[in-house]
Amino acid sequence: MPKPWIEGIHAYTPGKSSGAGGKPLVKLSANENPLGTSPAVFEAMGSAQLPSRYPDPDSTALRTALGKKHDIDPGRIVCGTGSDELLNLAAQAYAGPGDEILFPRFSFAVYDIAARRCGATPVEAAVSDYACDVDALLAAVTPRTRVVFLANPNNPTGTFLPRSEVDRLHAGLPGDVLFVLDQAYAEYLAPEDDDGGLALAASHENVLVTRTFSKIHGLAGERIGWATGAAHLIGELNRIRGPFNVTNHGQVAALAALGDDEWIERSRIANRDERARFADALAALGNHGIRAVPSEANFLLVTFTGDLTAEAAMAAIGQAGYAVRHLPGQGLPNALRITIGLPEDMDAVAAAIARAAQAAQ
Ligand code: PMP
Repeated sequence: MPKPWIEGIHAYTPGKSSGAGGKPLVKLSANENPLGTSPAVFEAMGSAQLPSRYPDPDSTALRTALGKKHDIDPGRIVCGTGSDELLNLAAQAYAGPGDEILFPRFSFAVYDIAARRCGATPVEAAVSDYACDVDALLAAVTPRTRVVFLANPNNPTGTFLPRSEVDRLHAGLPGDVLFVLDQAYAEYLAPEDDDGGLALAASHENVLVTRTFSKIHGLAGERIGWATGAAHLIGELNRIRGPFNVTNHGQVAALAALGDDEWIERSRIANRDERARFADALAALGNHGIRAVPSEANFLLVTFTGDLTAEAAMAAIGQAGYAVRHLPGQGLPNALRITIGLPEDMDAVAAAIARAAQAAQ
């Protein structure tokens, strides 16, 4: 018999890439990099080790490069099969039946699954206009709280908590609660907007920062993430992770992607500019009850509170050939999460929404 808490889990439903009748759609539903992968990655993967050999179990070269780039002792870094694996391992290492795992409402769906998977109770704190409310989060801490998850910027809202608030949140948590700061979208921030997570993880025993190669680095298909924190935390994750959790190709690809600063910067600037242009296009639609929540990530959460419903907008966007994300199961029936694509994609999506808004009047 499966454990009773496994029965209650709703499997993660990924963003779709096909529409009615299986017609392929341009995918703006999984926050991938529309520019794709750095050419340096393809070059490096061509000469990667044969698939017949197990990979380096410790991702040594990748951790060394990450350590150099971020000024972290590589001994305080662990790589994972996507950051999903590391988020799950953190929950598993610190919580079990009877414990609580706390995160803001409208957070990344994996936090809820990670909590239930280890038999802990997921607890959602109230938010303020879709953004993390530090006071509400701290008020929801109980003696049973073992882990707090915060994505910054957050998925699916794109909202960002500044450094002073992240520090205040951490300072308000009991010292024996593990604070997991999920920085999957950190590279999209302007450098001056750093939330201080890596510095916090370097100087405190109870902070774990997770990052991913799936977003700005354009390597979602290779499944590589990493985490850093105190040596004991990294040791605990190393004890329970899969022994060969990052593939040969994944390690080589991530190393090459990490080294291509120009590709990373180009992706960041393209996203920043296109996100602003798309938000402006939606604002220009006028009084249709369509609003983009301010975002620091590579997507916008767009809410529909007028005549045009999120479902009708999604259907119109699908007709135009694009897949976006509707998340009613996460309490967002009136919103769509739209990944920022290429300029022509965003023009087409904005035009589809404009047509649908007119038709709904
Ligand atoms: N954290 C957040 C906030 C995310 O949005 C995602 C991807 N959707 C992840 C973690 C997981 O990314 P991956 O497992 O691909 O590294």
